[in-house]
Amino acid sequence: MVIGMAETQTVTGGRFLTTSVTPADVFTREELTEEQRMFGQTAAEFMRNEVLPNEGRLFAHDWAFVRTLLRKAADLDLLRLEIPEAYGGLGLSKISAAYVGEQIAVSPSFAGSIGSHTSIGTLPTVYFGNEAQKAKYLPRLASGEMVGAYALTEPQSGSDALAAKTSAVLSPDGRHYLLNGQKMWITNGGFADLFTVFAKVDGEKFTAFLVERSMGVKSGPDEKKLGLDGSSTTALMLDGVPVPVENVLGTIGEGHKVAFNILNIGRVKLGTRNISGARLALNNATKYAKERRQFGRAIAEFGLIKQKLAEMSLRCFVGDAMVYRALGDADRALDAVDPGDAPAVLKAIEQFAVECSVNKVFTSETLAYVVDEALQVFGGNGYSREFPAERPYRDARITRIYEGTNEINRMIVATRLLKNLERSEARAPRDDGSGPLSSEYALLDAAKRLARGLLADAAAAFGATAKDEQELLAHVSNIVIDIYAIESGLARTEKIAARGAELAPVAADAVRVFASDAADRMAHGAKQVARALAGAGRNSSTADLISTVAGHPGVDTVAARRRIADAVIRAGRHPF
Ligand SMILES: Cc1cc2nc3c(=O)[nH]c(=O)nc-3n(C[C@H](O)[C@H](O)[C@H](O)COP(=O)(O)OP(=O)(O)OC[C@H]3O[C@@H](n4cnc5c(N)ncnc54)[C@H](O)[C@@H]3O)c2cc1C
Repeated sequence: MVIGMAETQTVTGGRFLTTSVTPADVFTREELTEEQRMFGQTAAEFMRNEVLPNEGRLFAHDWAFVRTLLRKAADLDLLRLEIPEAYGGLGLSKISAAYVGEQIAVSPSFAGSIGSHTSIGTLPTVYFGNEAQKAKYLPRLASGEMVGAYALTEPQSGSDALAAKTSAVLSPDGRHYLLNGQKMWITNGGFADLFTVFAKVDGEKFTAFLVERSMGVKSGPDEKKLGLDGSSTTALMLDGVPVPVENVLGTIGEGHKVAFNILNIGRVKLGTRNISGARLALNNATKYAKERRQFGRAIAEFGLIKQKLAEMSLRCFVGDAMVYRALGDADRALDAVDPGDAPAVLKAIEQFAVECSVNKVFTSETLAYVVDEALQVFGGNGYSREFPAERPYRDARITRIYEGTNEINRMIVATRLLKNLERSEARAPRDDGSGPLSSEYALLDAAKRLARGLLADAAAAFGATAKDEQELLAHVSNIVIDIYAIESGLARTEKIAARGAELAPVAADAVRVFASDAADRMAHGAKQVARALAGAGRNSSTADLISTVAGHPGVDTVAARRRIADAVIRAGRHPF
């Protein structure tokens, strides 16, 4: 899947920086409904019975077989989750769709195909299609009769998507747009039937079109890639392709709204897939560590292996908390608007743009960390194709590149927060200082004030050019990501504790270790910003806050990680 780009629209976002939440405000995976779990189970069984035993056919590029799998997935309703009921869909929540995505992530290649189809291949029509377009295409996308794809990237324009060169010229009879140009890296490119293609009308009006393959789209050969060997990625050639004027998607000149908005929810849903991949890698590593013996004992007994298992697990715990929180918030916002009111729906999604980018970066980097450490646990066998560590390592790499590179997403976080800064107002911390996690809540409050202070300092120092201070802004984004992670982890921990769950102490260890390390990271990042400001002849107002964050007492992370690792080893997998 996709995609890059610098974004241009003005939206709100990042409210978590100025408000405090109670655990009741935060959705966690522990609260998935019976119905959501059943869909998940259906998807998991489908993957176990139909996809995983046949993955070799995907790696051999048997795209006819992938189409068959997509049809079978459709028969189980897995392609219609987010399509409105009026067009043959189920109109389910983002949480439901993301939970299904989590099950499908056990095969990253197939997840690429089905994810591209159901998200970026279908949602542009769901959110931007007119009645006729929805009636024509959505039932066929829901049934798997048509496979969808999304064609934005070009050889010369990736992150800078609006610089696309593909042109659309109205035919003399006014009935068609003739599309000319080339697209790059299109997931499902080898066999999709319906492409959302972005092209410029009259050389300047960036516009989305629904283009059927049969209109004349030609695919290049499958790219030879580092990973996702079983997913089709090709260039597309558009050589005077006549697209009926009825197939303009949305408004001429407003293709950027289609391009950018589709990404936001995609980024969070990708988050559940990333964490699912990370959990699987951790589970495989745990099993291996318990079986493999060196120096007369299982390697799982060594401190350095325990440290890895614990760190992998606690990052999964926090990442999970973040993505389900964002999905829950998005669903609540969507529930509050009429699903038929497209602008209202988009506005509801847009307001979480910062959270979407935060999740994309955190979960893709968690996945990268976990697959790397999992491979290390396997030692030399980790490097072998005979063991289940090297493929996930290769497959994971793309998640930091597509759906907006992590550089672009870090810039989205900081620049949007800069824009919203004036409107923000600080709130008092939620905790009264007496609870078991009060030290972490105090850190959270100081870190929020620190992030706001750094943004204000950057705005004061650089004015309109603050957005160009990328290295400085990336430090702030990293602090913001840690803030969202700590807050989400705390809420999930409190909920688990309130249920009296056996794992409550493990959850508390996980969030405390995470917060301990995050305090050091945040203080380090803030110092770099303060020094850069000093270098530019500006003072930072944040010295006290940096000291407060740096002074977070933290916990004995060595002992806490040992306890977390013991829980992982006892369970034989990620225990949450
Ligand atoms: C397997 C795969 C599947 C894909 N699927 C699709 C698909 O289905 N549809 C589709 O349209 N696209 C798809 N893509 C394309 C993908 O979205 C792009 O590769 C991605 O957006 C990056 O664009 P680029 O490759 O042109 O890199 P570039 O934009 O050239 O970036 C190169 C480097 O420069 C950095 N950079 C660029 N601009 C900035 C900036 N302003 N500030 C700081 N750093 C910057 C980037 O972060 C990156 O590190 C896919 C790609 C792959 C590999």
